[in-house]
Amino acid sequence: MMKGSINRRNFIKCVAASAAAIPVLQGISMLGLKVAQAAEKPMLPESDPFAKSIKYCAEADKAAKAKNSACPVRKEKDRATQYCRNCQLYTKESGEGTKEVGKCMIVQGKSVAGGGWCMSWVKKPA
Ligand code: SF4
Repeated sequence: MMKGSINRRNFIKCVAASAAAIPVLQGISMLGLKVAQAAEKPMLPESDPFAKSIKYCAEADKAAKAKNSACPVRKEKDRATQYCRNCQLYTKESGEGTKEVGKCMIVQGKSVAGGGWCMSWVKKPA
């Protein structure tokens, strides 16, 4: 009799603890999924048709200095300080300096380089 009531009490405690753990575990798995998705998003290649249409360069400074640059318009002086990282359409995702990557409002499913640039660059409001 005594043994049965202890088991019942333990069973109820176990069920309550399990029920409390479900939202926590769901939260952890959703967080893990979000991190995995961010890390797995591929970089926008310059060879991508959409990237070509907006004259995207993954390394804006390098492209501006190259003789046969893939994005010659980046060579214009008034564009020298324009980068994805200071574009209004950009949101930083990860990394620092030359390794910084982020998402762009006009690029679907791919990340862009923080040091990149394209013809659609928009100045962030002050
Ligand atoms: S719109 Fe801005 S963030 Fe997007 S690729 Fe062009 S410069 Fe980079």
